[in-house]
Formats: sequence, structure tokens, C-alpha cells
Amino acid sequence: TTFDEVIDFWAKERPDGPAFEQDGRITSYSQLDDITRRIITLLQQRGVAQGDRINWLGKNRDIYFMIYLAAARCGIVMVPIGWRLAPAEIAYIVEDTGSSLIFADDEFSDVARDVADRVAAKPEVLTVSQVEKLLPDQALADYQPAGEHDPVLQLYTSGTTGNPKGAVLTNGNLLGLRNPALEAELPWQYYDADDCMLVAMPCAHIGGTGLVNISIASGIRALVQAEFTPVGVLEAIENGATHMFIVPAALQMVVQHPQARDTDFSNLKYLMYGAAPMPLELLKEAVRTMPNAGFLQAYGMTETSGTISLLPPDDHDLEGNERMRSAGKAVPGVEIRVVDPDDNEVPRGEIGEVAIKSPSNLIEYWHLPDATAEALRGGWMHTGDAAYMDDDGYIYIQDRIKDMIISGGENVYPAEVESAIYGHPAIAEVAVIGVPSERWGEEVKACVVAKPGMEIEEGDVIAYARERVAAFKAPKSVDVIPEMPRNPSGKILRRELRKPYWEGRDRQVS
Ligand code: ATP
Ligand code: MG
Repeated sequence: TTFDEVIDFWAKERPDGPAFEQDGRITSYSQLDDITRRIITLLQQRGVAQGDRINWLGKNRDIYFMIYLAAARCGIVMVPIGWRLAPAEIAYIVEDTGSSLIFADDEFSDVARDVADRVAAKPEVLTVSQVEKLLPDQALADYQPAGEHDPVLQLYTSGTTGNPKGAVLTNGNLLGLRNPALEAELPWQYYDADDCMLVAMPCAHIGGTGLVNISIASGIRALVQAEFTPVGVLEAIENGATHMFIVPAALQMVVQHPQARDTDFSNLKYLMYGAAPMPLELLKEAVRTMPNAGFLQAYGMTETSGTISLLPPDDHDLEGNERMRSAGKAVPGVEIRVVDPDDNEVPRGEIGEVAIKSPSNLIEYWHLPDATAEALRGGWMHTGDAAYMDDDGYIYIQDRIKDMIISGGENVYPAEVESAIYGHPAIAEVAVIGVPSERWGEEVKACVVAKPGMEIEEGDVIAYARERVAAFKAPKSVDVIPEMPRNPSGKILRRELRKPYWEGRDRQVS
């Protein structure tokens, strides 16, 4: 399947059904069909051809998604850029993609022009208001629809472990798992005509644009919010959002917001969470706040076009079920293996690297042939994530291999320790890192942010951790920090926290 076929299909099947809603403005599927055809004319007038790259710089806008889908229909590759990036980082991506056209939110038109000026290709900048004026009243020419194997989206990874890499994704990658026969197998993979997907995570990441791939494939409404706010999410749920995806840091803000107590969550059918380790106490708090929603833990990455495993709602009981720590089972169409460094599958229960075989795997990292060959060796996507699988095929993500701490010969996965410390009454946020140690090679350090007005005692945090995890996993020291360094995807940047401790030394990672 391709986006061109999918849009054609829903425009005939559900012409008046809503495809997008933002700030009360609704675009139906027949309007989406029409506007994407007109955007294609605009792109043709600008001289953009199949295989070329274009950029979006801005927040989540319905028009961005329509430009993306127009480009996808005719095989132009959209490369959205996170608006929180610094101009030099934006310029790097524009230069690297060789884009000739930057679409920008009006709010970012100055940044976009400044960036365009800095790069060799001197791309044209079109703001949203300009697009509205320039868009022809009707599509003027025909276009060559993109095929299944043509790239249509290039998303940069979040840059949690290093520099972001551009994952090149085709029609087939983005839609290959959205096969109705596969979806019918699982109720949460099936969407009713009047379902509504809340899109509040940033569109430059798979948790944002990836949701629109799902809503468009399923012919449902995407409720677009310019950016995440806890109140925005609470109001969207009251106003009919039935499905959403949210990262743990954002979910914490939603459930701890005073307005959550007065919110009616009954519309919400499924809440998907993932993209970073979920502290167990936070998950329980969220389940208690929204007892009628089906909770789904999603595991996936930019390179796999999003979710490739799901933990079903039934495994979210509050009785301390071990399964609640799992990222679930491979979704239909995906194979997951846990392998050793020689790519042999390790026995069930043993920790190794997660490798994925899926039609949704990227075709390449843009301009990084070595990284591509390394990641995709043997036709499996090697994720850099450490995990084990139980006898029933449930995977338990431990953490990033790069973040694993080797202390006195024992492996410590920071996420487990963070989850244990998270329940401490004075602690709002916690990150665990390895710092150099004469005695242990590396030792465990916790970096914590206090809840407003609370004092944190180092000895108290260490004792709290020791009651919950083995002594070698508990921190040997605690730093109280004012704020947690996070990237725009809401993920903790442990490498930033480690930096001052490793100045001038090499940190070996297995
Ligand atoms: P970079 O690759 O640039 O370092 P990133 O890996 O954070 O950044 P993404 O593609 O946004 O970029 O994130 C994918 C990663 O997020 C996964 O490889 C995994 O480490 C983490 N992740 C995703 N889902 C989960 C989950 N359910 N539990 C724990 N970690 C998760
Ligand atoms: Mg990654």
C-alpha cells in the first residue's frame, strides 16, 4: 500500500469523515484528497521532483500533515525539523538533506530564512500564510504516484545516545503493518470510523507524525495540538479523543495536574505510552487516574516507523503483576529476537540486544552507509537496546546498552534503579548514571530533582534504593540537580549528566 492509494480509498469510502481537526477546523477525507492534489501542483510549480527532499519547521499543524501527505503521494520526501533545535542544528539538517524548499510555521519564518541563508543550496522558504495564498484553486497537472518502495519520510532519531540520524522510510515501511487482516487480530489495532487520535507529541518525531500515519491508514480523525500541554491533553480527552500516545514524562504531567481530578476520562479507549522507560509507580498512578482506559505499552523507534511491540491492557493490573514491567509482544507482522554480539539468539530469560525483522524497518540512515550496514546486518534492525524475552514472547526492555553501568563486574541497568527510586516522596525526577570509580570501575550515581519545597538527603535516597534493589545496583552517591536535561522527545539525556564526570576519559561501552 501507499499513501496515494490510502487517501484515494478513504476519500471514496468516507468522503465526509474527518481526517484532521485543529482548533475547531475540520478537514474531511474528500477535502484532504483535494488539498493534497493542489499542494502537489504547488510543489511542481516550485520545481520539486520525485525523490527530492523538503523540510517543515514548526509545531504540529494540520497544514504540515497535509503537505507531508501530498509529498508522500508523489514521492517527495518530507523531513520535519524540531522547532526546539538551535538554528545551527536546523541548518545542519537542511544542508544534510539538500532540501530546496522549507515550509515554515509563520512563527518560525525568521529562523527559517536565517537558516536558508546559511546553507549552500539557498532553499526557498514558504510560510503557512504564503502557502494559503499560493495554493491553486484546483490541481493543475497530473502526478506520478509514489510506489511502495519509494521513500516518503525522513525522520531524525531523537539524539538520546548521540547525534540524531536521518531514518529514511518508504510508503511500505510506514503502512506495511497497517494491514486490515493483521489489525483485525487485536482489538486495539482496530479503529472504528468515529475514533479520534490525539496528536500532541512533536511532529518531528515518530510519536507525532507516526500517529498520523495510523489515523490516515485507518480512515479516522487526527485531533492535532500545536504542542503538548497537560491541560490540552485533558481537554482533548473530554472532547472526544479516543486514542493517544504519550511519553512517560508527559504522562506524569497529565496525571499530576490538578485538573486531572475533575476530568472525565470516559471517552478514552486506549492510552499508548512508551519511547522511554516507564517507572512502575507512575504507571500505577496513571492506571488509577484513568481506570477505564485500556493501557498499552508501546516499544519501538524511529527506525522501525514506530511501534513494533505492545503490552496489552489485560497485563496492566495493579496487583504487582510482573508483566506490567514488560513492553509486551511483537505486533502481527513483526519478529523480535534477543541476540548476542555474534547475532545468535540468546536463551529465553537472558539479556541480549533486541533485533527486529519488520516490513517497517528503515531502508537506510541518510548519508550514513556504515551506520546503515551495521544496524541492518543480516536484515535485522539492531536496536542498541538490552532486553530479555520470557517463554511467552514478552520482552522486558532493560535499557540502552550504551547506558549500562558495569560496576565491580556486575551489570546495572539505570532504568531499573530509576524506577525503584521514583517512588521516593521527595523526588520528582530521577536519572541514574555510571561515574568513574577507582574501586568498581564505574559506580552508580543518582541525579535527582526535588519536588517543590522538598529537601533531599543523600543517605536517605541510598537507603530507599537499597530496600528495593540489590545493594550493587543502589547508588553510591546522589546529586541534587535543579532540572533534568531532556531532549525535545522528553527523554533524559544521561550523556549530559555523565559528561562532567568523564571529562578527558574514555567510557567503555560494550
Ligand atoms: P538516538 O537513536 O538518536 O539515540 P532515540 O533512540 O531516543 O535517539 P527514538 O527513535 O525516538 O530515538 O527512540 C527509540 C528508543 O526509545 C528505543 O531504541 C528505546 O531505547 C527507547 N524506547 C522506546 N520505547 C520504549 C519502551 N516502551 N520502554 C523503554 N524504552 C523505550
Ligand atoms: Mg535510537
